Amino acid sequence: MEKVLVTGGSGFIALHCVQQLLDKGYEVKSTVRSESKKQEILDSMSKNSSNSNNLEIVMADLLKDEGWNEAVEGCDYVLHVASPFILEVPSDENVLIKPAVEGTLRVLKACKTNKVKKVVLTSSVAAVAYGHKEQKVFDENDWSNTGPGITPYAKSKTLAEKAAWDYVNTLSDDEKFDFTVINPVAVTGPMLTSDIGTSNDLLVKLAGGSIPACPRTHMGFVDVRDVAKAHIFSMKSAATNNERIIVSDKEMFFVEMSRVLNTAGFKKAPTREMPNLLVRIMSLFIKELGGVVNSLGKEVNTDKSKAKALFDWEYISAEDSAIEATEQLVSMGLVK
Ligand code: NDP
Repeated sequence: MEKVLVTGGSGFIALHCVQQLLDKGYEVKSTVRSESKKQEILDSMSKNSSNSNNLEIVMADLLKDEGWNEAVEGCDYVLHVASPFILEVPSDENVLIKPAVEGTLRVLKACKTNKVKKVVLTSSVAAVAYGHKEQKVFDENDWSNTGPGITPYAKSKTLAEKAAWDYVNTLSDDEKFDFTVINPVAVTGPMLTSDIGTSNDLLVKLAGGSIPACPRTHMGFVDVRDVAKAHIFSMKSAATNNERIIVSDKEMFFVEMSRVLNTAGFKKAPTREMPNLLVRIMSLFIKELGGVVNSLGKEVNTDKSKAKALFDWEYISAEDSAIEATEQLVSMGLVK
């Protein structure tokens, strides 16, 4: 039986990767950085997978060397999904950049040492389409510009992905492993633990009525099950080797997504937009808005043709995914 390491199993996307891998019959290892998260994952998988006995959880922190070699040891494949994901702007950008960049290199070095067959890295459209002045349809040849104006999160994803490609490209033939990068847009959909993740928190804000109107922010949306499927498909598909792959169902302004929720019965979801100036003023008081002020009004459209040509399934629609997640958030008492 082939074995796969999924880093950061406590995360929203990683846990779906773990579940799909277990259901496909793989042996799975996953890393966490606390005992409480370990139990949370084990409990979730014993509820959500019939193969939870094939799951092993080990300890490793992206900021430390210890544990990574042992985590990768014995694995045929590695899905490196873990990376800090927060929308607010931290006072020190290194809180995000250091674990993203150094952690990615730690994982890749352990993959080289342990001669894994293939690594799939979770990057983001934040490494593709941010920090640009021009409006265009972004594709896998584009890189976010890490100059002034980019958020620390987008910078962390861009620098981590660049560091990964640089590392992989310097490996000698006998050190090399196959490598694919997945660049998802905002990910929504069912949560497998009570930790809802950062992207579903957007739905809490929209459907819970905590904002009276939407900032004029544009982004892509995709369901978490398709993102996990993209990782696992890429892990086994030689056609994806050395590719970056944008994974997006569709892009829309926040207000359009909010109207979808409102029409579906979540009546607190705002149907109007907030003037940009008001968002800029509010961002002085509401930390999370710091992440959107520089992209107000800018469309971030992406070319989906590479994923369409490679993947052999249709995505769950962004609208259905968001509605399903919001229904779950209501049942969890997080949207009233
Ligand atoms: P979550 O916040 O749910 O998961 C992040 C994971 O990273 C958690 O398991 C977290 O562990 C782990 N992590 C953070 N810091 C460290 C560290 N120092 N050492 C070890 N583990 C750490 O996020 P998502 O599941 O949404 O995101 C997963 C990946 O997907 C990230 O790389 C993110 O950038 C990327 N992505 C996400 C998108 C989205 O919309 N959700 C869109 C595009 C890309 P712990 O539980 O202990 O905090």
